[in-house]
Amino acid sequence: MNIILLGPPGAGKGTQARKLVDERGMIQLSTGDMLREAKTSGTEMGLKVAAIMDAGELVTDEIVIGLIEEKLQGDNGGGFIFDGFPRTLAQADALGDLLKRNGQTLDCVVEMQVDDNALVGRITGRYTCGSCGEGYHDVTKVPAVEGKCDNCGESNMQRRADDNEDSLRTRLMEYYKKTSPLIGYYYAKDDLKSVDGLAAIDDVAGSITAALNGGDIIGNG
Ligand code: AMP
Repeated sequence: MNIILLGPPGAGKGTQARKLVDERGMIQLSTGDMLREAKTSGTEMGLKVAAIMDAGELVTDEIVIGLIEEKLQGDNGGGFIFDGFPRTLAQADALGDLLKRNGQTLDCVVEMQVDDNALVGRITGRYTCGSCGEGYHDVTKVPAVEGKCDNCGESNMQRRADDNEDSLRTRLMEYYKKTSPLIGYYYAKDDLKSVDGLAAIDDVAGSITAALNGGDIIGNG
């Protein structure tokens, strides 16, 4: 089963994708993670996109489509979770073509609905363990020992360069201008399910499971 998690920055796509990886053996394809990796390893492409990402703007369709195309050649395990891709109509068309070419289908697009007012607090307070990827938050989820990961015990907490209020405003604007039209695009294709992304993490996971099992979540059938 191949699925897309769709929603604004801070909707919880990454958190839910990691749960699906753990619980269903799916493969998370996060273009944001791939680009950050290229940025840290200092590849030519990473250097090219660094400033764009830090400002909160979208990198070119050509670059991200190329990254996804490469990953689709590999094993898809229990299915792919597209996290942060597609973000434009051109990317959505390209994904459809690539899947078709590989004899695969897109089974479900899960829209994670969140109130914009909640996003600023969620994003500006969040950080992750750079060793195992466990997510934390200044207010809602602090580790038992400050600076030390509850999950793996390492002291390697990291904050994203673009998790500040200025970049977030740009990221939100990019989302509404370029990505939110995908909600209508997938609704028209009858692939869309919507879940309440503001619920507790496990409740959101339950709604996603119900959506993937074909349930009616927030009225999209
Ligand atoms: P994310 O981790 O998904 O929030 O992505 C972080 C940043 O990477 C975004 O603000 C963009 O600059 C870039 N990015 C990630 N995915 C895409 C995409 N599909 N299209 C264009 N830019 C992307």
